[in-house]
Order: sequence, then C-alpha cells, then structure tokens
Amino acid sequence: MKKIAFFCIPAHGHTNPMLPVAAQLIKRGNSVRFYSFNEFKEKITATGAEYVSCDRFLPEITEKEMESLKKSSTTEMSIQDIRITLKMNDFLEKEFKEFQPDVVYTDAVCFWGKLNAWKFNIPMVVSTSTFAFNQLSSKYMKNSPGELAEMILGLPKVSKELKTLEPYGYHVKSTLALVQNNNKTDSIVYTSRRFQPYVESFSDHYKFVGPSVFSDKLPDKNNDRPLIYISLGTVISDKPDFYSKCITAFKDMNADIIISCGKYIDIDSLGVIPDNIKVFPRVDQLDILSRANVFLTHCGMNSTSESLYMATPMVLYPQTNEQRAVARKTNEFGAGELLTDDSVEGIRKAVENILANSSYAKAAKKCSEDFRSCCGTTGAAEFIENAPCSSNGIDPLEELRKADGRFTLFYWIIASALIILTGIFIGWNYSWITGVAAGVLSYPISSATQGIRYNNLIKKLPKYE
Ligand code: UDP
Repeated sequence: MKKIAFFCIPAHGHTNPMLPVAAQLIKRGNSVRFYSFNEFKEKITATGAEYVSCDRFLPEITEKEMESLKKSSTTEMSIQDIRITLKMNDFLEKEFKEFQPDVVYTDAVCFWGKLNAWKFNIPMVVSTSTFAFNQLSSKYMKNSPGELAEMILGLPKVSKELKTLEPYGYHVKSTLALVQNNNKTDSIVYTSRRFQPYVESFSDHYKFVGPSVFSDKLPDKNNDRPLIYISLGTVISDKPDFYSKCITAFKDMNADIIISCGKYIDIDSLGVIPDNIKVFPRVDQLDILSRANVFLTHCGMNSTSESLYMATPMVLYPQTNEQRAVARKTNEFGAGELLTDDSVEGIRKAVENILANSSYAKAAKKCSEDFRSCCGTTGAAEFIENAPCSSNGIDPLEELRKADGRFTLFYWIIASALIILTGIFIGWNYSWITGVAAGVLSYPISSATQGIRYNNLIKKLPKYE
C-alpha cells in the first residue's frame, strides 16, 4: 500500500481525468490525499480520496486578471500558479512532513505539486491532461499571432515572478522547464499511442493510458431523430453570441439539441428557446455523448477524448493553440471537420455535413475501439504505484539530436569542399558566395530533412504496446 499525494489546479479539464485514477488507486488498497479546491470537493470525495481544501491559498484576482484567465492566457496562468505556490509553501512543508507521501501525482501545469515533489525529493508522476508536448509534437499547435505576442510579451513578467520562488528553495530556470514534458519524467497521458502526435519521440517514461472516464456506458446512437450536443467546455464557455447563433441555426431542424453553456451565462439572456433545444449550465457530458450523433465542441482534450470514446463524430471549433492541435489530429483521423464559418448558416451546414456523411461516425467508432483497448486507469494506477518507473534509458529526442548533429557535420564537410572547389575552379574571389549560400541554406535544409532522420530513427527504436 502506498501513500499518494494528488495535486491539481482549479480546473475541471485537469481534475476530471485524475478522478478515476484516484478511485482505482484506492480500490487497490492505496491511500490518496487530494489537494484541490472546494468547487471539486464533491467529486473528489466520491472517489474515496481524502480531500484537502486549498481555497485559502487562492490569490485575490482582479477583473482584468480574470478576463485573461478566461481567455486561457498562459502568462496569467503562470503568474497565478507561482503566487499560489508561494502562498502554499509553509502549509505544504508541514503536509509533506506529516503525510510523507511515497509518490506525488501532479497535474503537468500545477507548479506547487511539481516544485514540492522536487524539493522534498519524492518520486513524481505527472498527469498530462492534453497531448504530451515536446519540440516535435508542439508543431501540431498553431499559435495565433495574438497568442504568440501574448506569450512573448509576458515572458519578462513571468521571469520576474519566478525569481520570487528562489528564497523558498524552489529552483526553476524557466516556465518552459516547468511545464514542458521531458523524456526523463514519469508521465501519464490520457490518450492512446495512436492519437498522440509524434508518439515515437516520447521515451518509456510515458504511459498512454487512454481517456480516463467514469462511465461503463457503451455508445448507443439509436435515436428517433438526431441528437446534437454543443459545449465549449468549462473555461472559455462565456460566449452568449455563439449559443444564440446555435439556437437560431437549429430552431427549425428535426433534431434534439442540448447546449451546455457553462456557469458564466444567464440562460434567460439567450432569448426564446424552442422546444427542440435544451440549454443547461452543466450536463452529464459522458451520458449525452453516449447517445449524441454529433458534438459541436471547442476541442478541449477531455471533451474530444470523451466524444471519441463514445464514438461521436464532431464539428471542431477550437479556440486555443492546444485545442487546434487536438482538432487537427481528430480531423486527420476523419472523425470531425473544422468549423470554418461560425455564422448561423455555417454552423447548420457543418452539423448537417457530419450527419449526412457516415464516414465521420465510422471513423469515430474506430477511435472509440482504439481508446477502449488502452490500459486505462488500471495501467495508470500500476504505473503510479511503481514510480519511479524502470526504463530502458533510450531518449528518442536525444537520439534525434545526435542524428541532427551528424547531419550538420556532414553538411559542413560537403559545403567546405564546395567552397574549396569554387575557389580552385572558378576563382577564390567567388568562393565566399558559396560560403554565404551554404550558411543561408543550412537551417532550411536541416529542418526539411529532419522528417527523414526521424522516420529512420523510429524504425530502430523499441516498439511499445
Ligand atoms: N463537462 C461536463 N459537463 C459539462 C461540460 C463539461 O461534465 O456540461 C466536463 C467534460 O466532460 C470534460 C471537462 O468538463 O471532462 C471539460 O474539459 P475539456 O478539457 O474538454 O475542456 P476545458 O473545460 O478544460 O476547456
């Protein structure tokens, strides 16, 4: 039996997949102490875990900061994370001494969980509620110019805030070092190997366990008329105009529509709601997805995984870079189509297209079978119990770096030979042109050929189930 300390930020999307893992660990005789926030108390205690409230450590948030958080600003989230870590310092010091956890299971962006596991030298497993991100898989995330600017302009602010952690024994080089997955950290990812972009670039410290859900329901799509489910998740759901457009788009359709509009919207403000449409602040999403014929989603990792788990094809309406990555992968698997026109007409056409074309439902069913064949919460629990995990020591990214290094060396040997040959046969006055051309072309050629080196490399790597 192990004592396991769970840490998570106050967000449903990050907390939800940790809950079935907690329940499974407890079922296997372990004890789980879950550090979280009162909004999540009920669902945490329902798992059998001991709930510890951390609400008193949440800093006061101004309206402007709240606005940024609702827009998923990475700068604002990092700053709040650091402030909570500082406020929790004394409390967690006592807790770690008293509870003496054998393992820390912490969300990937929960700074206080990670930093305290490092500080007290406790084996740590990271819960990754999105795709696992490294330099290759992050190519899937297409940052909008606004997001890029926000990240770059926010860097000095975050670095200044990070320095406040130093006196408390938390040593961090950068936020990236805190949030990015790396091949030496034991990590659980709630998707299948098939669905994870660039899966081969992750070491055996990663366990791809499939969606972590509390549901033994099987998909059952035999409805009298189509059931359309619409949700933008729990963070960026404050979009009354969008829900109003959906209501107009579907008011005359021979279909049932369920909209989960989140806690920020006053449902009465959405105007007259016709009989075929029901709007709720929150629903039992898994239950609805088990019956839904199409899901219009913001492509949060949990919502998308739950949709595929329940074999529901999607209209993809991502709002952030992470969600765009999830949308892209779903589209590649043929289980959804992007909403490129979010007018009333555009929304209706996108949904009708999914309903009219059975290939989307077939692709979603295939994904469902793949997800259901993963090791699930049992595999996750075993992995946490055995942390730190034993590893074959192969770091695919390190191997790729070595292959890139060999390529660069080879490139410059050839380039030097060409510079010399230009000097000998054309004239030394011209050899600098060859040199400049080789310099300018080195980066694009290296990037363009990295895919070939990656494909060669993965053929030699061990195969995981
Ligand atoms: N959810 C729910 N009921 C709702 C809306 C959402 O239970 O009415 C759950 C959903 O099942 C999922 C989570 O909230 O587990 C949303 O997570 P996701 O990663 O999709 O999006 P986020 O809210 O983090 O943007």
